[in-house]
Amino acid sequence: QTRYSSAEVERVRVTKCRMSGQLRVAVVGAGGAGLCAARHILSRQGVFRPPVVYELSSAVGGTWVYEECTGCHENGLPIHSSMYRDLRTNLPKEVMMFPDFPFDPQLPSFLPHQEVLRYLERYSQHYGITPHIRFETVVEEVKPVTMETGEGKLTWEVTSSGGQCGRRTETFDAVFVCNGHYSDPHLPSIPGLEHFKGTLLHSHSYRYPDPFAGQSVVVLGAGPSGLDISFELASVNAQVTLSHGRPPAVPPAPRSSRPPVCRVLKDGAVQFQDGEVAHPQVLLLCTGYRFSYPFLDPTQLGLQVQTHLVSPLYKHLLPPACPSLFIVGVCKVICPFPHFHSQVQFALAVLEGTVSMPSKAEMEEEVQREMERKLAEGVKPQHLLNLEWSQWEYYQALAGMGGFSPPPPVTQSLYEEVRQQRQRHPQKYRQLNYRLISDTQWEEVELQPNR
Ligand code: FAD
Repeated sequence: QTRYSSAEVERVRVTKCRMSGQLRVAVVGAGGAGLCAARHILSRQGVFRPPVVYELSSAVGGTWVYEECTGCHENGLPIHSSMYRDLRTNLPKEVMMFPDFPFDPQLPSFLPHQEVLRYLERYSQHYGITPHIRFETVVEEVKPVTMETGEGKLTWEVTSSGGQCGRRTETFDAVFVCNGHYSDPHLPSIPGLEHFKGTLLHSHSYRYPDPFAGQSVVVLGAGPSGLDISFELASVNAQVTLSHGRPPAVPPAPRSSRPPVCRVLKDGAVQFQDGEVAHPQVLLLCTGYRFSYPFLDPTQLGLQVQTHLVSPLYKHLLPPACPSLFIVGVCKVICPFPHFHSQVQFALAVLEGTVSMPSKAEMEEEVQREMERKLAEGVKPQHLLNLEWSQWEYYQALAGMGGFSPPPPVTQSLYEEVRQQRQRHPQKYRQLNYRLISDTQWEEVELQPNR
């Protein structure tokens, strides 16, 4: 195989490809992130070939494809979606949307999951993405080939199976990893858990509250799923104890609150950190998800993949050692679709060569500095990827470097409004409806009676 001796040679080759419209890009996954990547690649046809989008299921939408069954499909592949039956979005559609593709204005602001799926299907059709998706095709391996340069590896071999062609390996200039981050349950290590005699499940496999009517349930974790599911369970008269380690972010709800579970005793009782014990019939782990890239070898990419952290990723997106692979959407506490929209455009600007990129060492240093700053500020290691307030600055930075527009200021101001409403009225905030007036203004509106 050719060995490229210098970054310059690589740049010449990439420039040649760019000029002849030949850059080949693989996209793993046709959820929100993968569709967004494909949409922007297709809009730059002078530079890129149409992408190959690999999707292991037979539909677009990823997380938003609700599946009633849990466990595995008939073909042995695990169920991907963690969606529950009655889920309504926790962001209003005016914030949630891709900035250039609004939801149907007739819909309420907080949507049932079916509407988000419809939106993504419409997005895929509108931008002509669907013909470029290889459904029922699993990416098994993504491997950098050995053409090392001063700045990274140049091409990628993607091995997939299924679909019409069976197992095959294809070569690409860049890869967008968009396989989702809410599929592989994180199971905390709780000493004595094997003694628990009741029903043990993770929120990944929770669908609706009916089977738990009247039962005593300890819900472990007070993130968005833990809170939502607690309310659902309370609505069928389950006796819910919400066990969590954070200061109560929401006012009292129809459930009691306890510190984290620290162990399960030999008689099956659950013990909390304050010494109290309970004998719940159900222990429901709303303890989040692990990062999981079964088709990548992290060490080949100079990456460490831990339960809550993938590092180093320059701009939370690309491994400094391999700057033509992009892992989209690893950050938490964000507006996912606007986030993908910014990351994807930045990534394409990197590939187009319009972003002036630091050296590998400089990128690594920046990531390290940023992590140390957060840890010094008291951020817990498992929250290093939570952006929350800093997401707006982040989008500005990507947009400034990549030469595109960040999400409009109205996204931020409405997001902040909804965040406060959610804290004040965790059960009612979804009844509100909004309308965007301009890029900077929104207003609260009454729904028309026919909606
Ligand atoms: P996914 O939607 O998970 O898509 C990944 C795709 O990759 C899937 O289609 C999968 O089949 C495919 N794939 C995986 N591995 C392979 C492989 N090896 N080969 C081929 N294909 C593969 N966001 C909001 O904005 N608002 C909300 O209200 C909201 N609520 C949520 C509620 C729940 C319960 C969950 C779990 C998430 C919620 N989110 C919400 C976040 C949501 O995950 C994002 O909005 C977004 O849909 C994630 O898109 P994604 O493309 O990163 O991942």
